[in-house]
Amino acid sequence: MDVDGMAAAILAGDRRALARGITLIESARPDHREQAVTLISALRGAGRQALRLGLSGTPGVGKSTFIEAFGMKLADQGKRIAVLAVDPSSARSGGSILGDKTRMEQLSRHPNAYIRPSPSQAHMGGVARRSREAVALCEAAGFDLVLIETVGVGQSETMVAEICDIFILLMAPAGGDELQGVKRGIMEMADMILVNKADGELLTTATRTVADYAGALRLLRKRAQDPQGFPKAMPVSAYSGAGLDRAWDEISGLADWRREHGHWALRRADQAAHWFREEVRHGLLSVLEREPARGIFQRLAVNVAAGEASPEAAARQMLASLGRG
Ligand code: GDP
Repeated sequence: MDVDGMAAAILAGDRRALARGITLIESARPDHREQAVTLISALRGAGRQALRLGLSGTPGVGKSTFIEAFGMKLADQGKRIAVLAVDPSSARSGGSILGDKTRMEQLSRHPNAYIRPSPSQAHMGGVARRSREAVALCEAAGFDLVLIETVGVGQSETMVAEICDIFILLMAPAGGDELQGVKRGIMEMADMILVNKADGELLTTATRTVADYAGALRLLRKRAQDPQGFPKAMPVSAYSGAGLDRAWDEISGLADWRREHGHWALRRADQAAHWFREEVRHGLLSVLEREPARGIFQRLAVNVAAGEASPEAAARQMLASLGRG
């Protein structure tokens, strides 16, 4: 299938074309990359936008169970939902733990849902850049909601926050000590904190944890792009389904508010600028990996290591050799 045919099929909602398109953008081959860029440009014209929802949480907090329950609820209401995983561990193993077939079993069979495991890429930056493009493809394919899931291990959250419209942290009921271990930067990224497992024996702890997070969130500066009460903390139970409707009401309410007040478009514009810089940075680095720059780069690196040139002087020389000094 040529790129135009693929674009038309994706716009028509063809799942196989979507899957092939995502495989194309994940490919490292230069000719594939060129086709991928053409494909993304062709799809942009349709101007379709989904709600991009980022979801992060440490392993075991209940992400798969939550996405299954939350996704089924929305899919049953007729919403079309795509789930993409950004999994930094796949960078190490070369495979994807999030791609495990047994995860989200019901949702993966729902006609309104599409689940795509994490790409296996050499490094986190690559995974994030390609995930962002995969989101664009899902939007073009007509999904209402694109959920981008990531394991909370630091770097990946920052990248997912640069992709999504609304960022959610999924947390487990916890004592005060664990709460203090949550990094401020991660709290600041969150639009909502959902405390999962608010059921059975854990209900009391969960209620207290919600209050603790709500208190912590109030201490952070309120952002101009948010209505009263945000960022907020809420209890949910992926098991019992408690709180899921309310969580969706809050999420869609926040999305509507930001759209109406222009913050939605501003955030997307900032993100586009960010990814433009990232692409250029990446492109420049790959120039250094090719001859003749590679030879000069390696020679200068040896000089620096041997103490024959300062890092600053060598860097200037490198840039000058590229004609950009
Ligand atoms: P993930 O690693 O974040 O994807 O977490 P999983 O979805 O695999 O869930 C981790 C564990 O927590 C599993 O044993 C789940 O059965 C359990 N779990 C998930 N959601 C809930 C919930 O709402 N309530 C309770 N009590 N347990 C849950």
